[in-house]
Amino acid sequence: MDKKSPLICVFCGSSFGVDPAYAEAAKAFGRGIAARGFSLVFGGGTPGLMGAVSRSVHESGGCVTGVLPEFLRWVERPAEWEQNLIITPDLQLRKTRMLAMADAFVVLPGGAGTMDEFFEVITSTQLKVLNKPIILLNTKGFFAPLEALLRHLVQQGFAKPFMLELYRCADTPEAAVDMVAERLGLLASG
Ligand code: AMP
Repeated sequence: MDKKSPLICVFCGSSFGVDPAYAEAAKAFGRGIAARGFSLVFGGGTPGLMGAVSRSVHESGGCVTGVLPEFLRWVERPAEWEQNLIITPDLQLRKTRMLAMADAFVVLPGGAGTMDEFFEVITSTQLKVLNKPIILLNTKGFFAPLEALLRHLVQQGFAKPFMLELYRCADTPEAAVDMVAERLGLLASG
């Protein structure tokens, strides 16, 4: 793997969701990060948006690394287009490994697993254990309820306002790729 290529960690659903726009955005985001010379690290499985984004990175010439817990390798089968496959003993160590490897995190629509991963990076950043860009790819406003929940936590005094500054929201895959580049200092801002 090219060590100089920034490694973008994508968290996303192992399902496609009800709207084809989610898979379209996942594929466009995959194309975008490969075109920018970034590499992908993701959960390693082929189902749903996870497969769509990783296949798209590979087909666009980018490097794909999957990180799968041992017990999931027969459930969320590893993608044949992964250049690197890392097997971890469990889910916790998968997240630990991904958090350590990545240069930035991009969260696409997904289910409880994706939300768990989002909260892992937000809470780690809040506690200053982690300091890497976090971007939500907000296809068709998917993350509006999550953002409302985060604001509610602040309004009710259970989180500090700065938590809302720890991530950025992008409405399109192209904007998400630009945001990653900008936050990594690879693009002039403004
Ligand atoms: P989902 O968003 O539920 O489709 O899950 C997306 C990915 O997160 C899949 O690879 C799941 O196996 C994984 N996942 C599910 N639960 C957890 C968890 N508690 N911690 C870490 N990853 C999880």
